[in-house]
Amino acid sequence: MRYVSTRGTAPELGFADVLLAGLASDGGLYMPAKWPELAIVGPDATYAQLAAAVLQPFVTPDIDAATLGRLCDEAYATFRHPATVPLVQIGDHHFVQELFHGPTLAFKDVALQLVGRLFDHVLGQRAQRITIVGATSGDTGSAAIDGVRHCDNIDIIILYPLGRTSEVQRRQMTTVDSPNVHTVAIEGTFDDCQDLVKAMFNDVSFRQRQNLSAVNSINWARVMSQVVYYVSACRTLRGPLTFCVPTGNFGNVLAGWIARHLGAPIDQFVVASNTNDILTRFIRSNDMSAVPVVPTLSPSMDIQVSSNFERLLFEMNGRDGAMTAEQLQRFRHSGTLAIEPDQRAEWLDGVFRAAKVDDAQTLDVIGNTYAATGMLVDPHTAVGLGAVQQLMQCGEVHGDVVTLATAHPAKFPDAVERATGIRPQLPAHLADLFDRPERTTELPNDLAQVERFVESVARV
Ligand SMILES: *Cc1c(COP(=O)(O)O)cnc(C)c1O
Repeated sequence: MRYVSTRGTAPELGFADVLLAGLASDGGLYMPAKWPELAIVGPDATYAQLAAAVLQPFVTPDIDAATLGRLCDEAYATFRHPATVPLVQIGDHHFVQELFHGPTLAFKDVALQLVGRLFDHVLGQRAQRITIVGATSGDTGSAAIDGVRHCDNIDIIILYPLGRTSEVQRRQMTTVDSPNVHTVAIEGTFDDCQDLVKAMFNDVSFRQRQNLSAVNSINWARVMSQVVYYVSACRTLRGPLTFCVPTGNFGNVLAGWIARHLGAPIDQFVVASNTNDILTRFIRSNDMSAVPVVPTLSPSMDIQVSSNFERLLFEMNGRDGAMTAEQLQRFRHSGTLAIEPDQRAEWLDGVFRAAKVDDAQTLDVIGNTYAATGMLVDPHTAVGLGAVQQLMQCGEVHGDVVTLATAHPAKFPDAVERATGIRPQLPAHLADLFDRPERTTELPNDLAQVERFVESVARV
């Protein structure tokens, strides 16, 4: 399998190089040069076996079947449910797929538990070490840390805004006792943290000295890993299914679109947004104008631009990288993304539906869901459930629907308690989270000091 950039000028690479590169050198995102067949897998396969079979064509020839099978087994053994990503029925035609049984209680574990192991394997083969730096406002940091905490060839440094993450989220990062894991509380906002990370990557001599790498949601390996749970749900429920996806960077719903493109029996997708509804506006009324981000009860969906949308755009443009690059350039200047009516009709209409659910509605949904089913849902999942309710009422959605539950309710206990009066309990493996010692370093919003810190802990 070879990979091409969505902007058309970066060199084609194999899987291992794409994994380590993250972003393509022309600023684009990597996509498979051609789509493989969806693997045929016997009915008794475990989730890990299904993952190995579905993913094998994407990693050939860099990773052999035995190795991929072992890495998938190890990655999904960290999930605390025998079905890994269980389906729970909550209505006549409505199911929830719980993606939050991994170590850090958010769906990002599904990808990052595997991606961390893929990184470590490839680095070991090449006798290389890397330093992963990242910024987080919450879920990504802890999932990335947990994904690489046992990796010999990786040091990870995660920056988060001092005093601006939830206590559960901070403790999930700062209580990890591994010599290769470091967290830094920056005196600033999440944007300051992200700017520091960008500045470190733009400091070429620093980047090369430290062998900097990233595991953000534009990494192909993350998107690829997420294709598997769509396939898994289709095997269990037969299909055709509609999936509702609480959406931020569009990585998750893009993975679903790839599963559909490969032949999984998926009818359509519901893109669920909170008040930061750029994607809902785009899908419903062709308006993709970026407006400032407002904080909501579902912070992992508080985004302005959905970076993974570029991958769908590339397909819509008949895989023309130059055309995609030009379209994105115009978007950056004018603030509006121009899509031809026939392109919309072919690629978007009838495939993607969308709805917006604000904070008041989110709390209502958490309360109603608990009253109707006894199930506690987190605010991100509630945005998804609310979107399905809206679209079922107006007849845009029919047949069996699967809403992806992207976080465990105990990860966002305040919102759940506000809506239901019940404070969700952390699962047993995290029950003592508030008693574990924290380890972090506070630094000012200053590039030189942050770089010095990275240099002092990274073992490249
Ligand atoms: C990251 C995240 C999302 C958004 O996923 P995208 O792939 O960015 O669209 C939704 N819910 C939760 C809980 C998350 O952590």
